[in-house]
Amino acid sequence: MSNSIIETKNLFKIFTVTRGIFGEKKQLNAVNGVSLKINKGEALGIVGESGCGKTTVAMMLLNLLKPTDGNILLNGKEVSSFSQHDISMSIQPIFQDPYSSLNPRKSVGNIISLPLRIHRLADSKERRKKTEKIMDLVGLPKRYYNNLPNQLSGGQRQRVAIARALIMKPDIIVCDEPTSALDVSVQSQILNLLIDLQHEFNLTYIFISHNLAVVEHISTRVAVMYLGRVVEEKDTQSLFNNPEHPYTQALLKSILIPDPSVEKASAQLGIEFPNPLDPPSGCVFHPRCSYAKETCKNEAPKQYCCGRDLIECHRFH
Ligand code: SF4
Repeated sequence: MSNSIIETKNLFKIFTVTRGIFGEKKQLNAVNGVSLKINKGEALGIVGESGCGKTTVAMMLLNLLKPTDGNILLNGKEVSSFSQHDISMSIQPIFQDPYSSLNPRKSVGNIISLPLRIHRLADSKERRKKTEKIMDLVGLPKRYYNNLPNQLSGGQRQRVAIARALIMKPDIIVCDEPTSALDVSVQSQILNLLIDLQHEFNLTYIFISHNLAVVEHISTRVAVMYLGRVVEEKDTQSLFNNPEHPYTQALLKSILIPDPSVEKASAQLGIEFPNPLDPPSGCVFHPRCSYAKETCKNEAPKQYCCGRDLIECHRFH
């Protein structure tokens, strides 16, 4: 029996995009058969360049987007069989931008306690008590209860978003680039807070980021995505010590470039990320891969699995 708290099985998300003056319709395979298993208490980092499908996976896990095909299992049961209320009790999000994810007209106390009000989980006195307790936990002084988001710093706003996610006592938190809008000095404070909270509440994280250094810091496992597919998945130490997929190797080399403006692996990969509406044939990574052979241009590689680890590349067959 699977130990996973949340699992995706051959998940697909296809968007139809209209292009050009003649309104030509094209299919965009944003997520193209993704299977992931996440055990309770794990932190799975999902990394890859913009457009690789990592945020689309996060939106489907949060039930904010319906998959085109495939399954999402929460504690072994199909997620679509749960009510939105039950899903909210189990999974909560923390989004990238604390400036736009908080209602600017609501007070901090109101924002944090909103899920309790929506789900009628406490009367006003109890809500206040729970909200103040959670503010304390995330390092927000109670005096901010009546403040508006624009009276707080970026880091404090992200603490409000974390408190709002935690107030429902979820088992799983999906963090979509939760530190990328913050100053570097604040990023590590928020990351350390997330790690402390994970240990305290045995939380399970799905941590989406393009920043490998951040992912290495927080994740216990890492899945590398490229054009809608997971091309390598391993525990964090093995992935960072022994990256095997050519794309993972290039991504890791790119974080060694001492230029903070270089966030794309393209510096290591020669050419830009391909157009997802017109993906390359065979292995979709072949135009950028220095190991590419003739087979790579014509045949998509199969996944090679060893225990929970996987790699998708012809070199491993
Ligand atoms: Fe490179 Fe071929 Fe492996 Fe694709 S299958 S990553 S092109 S070696």
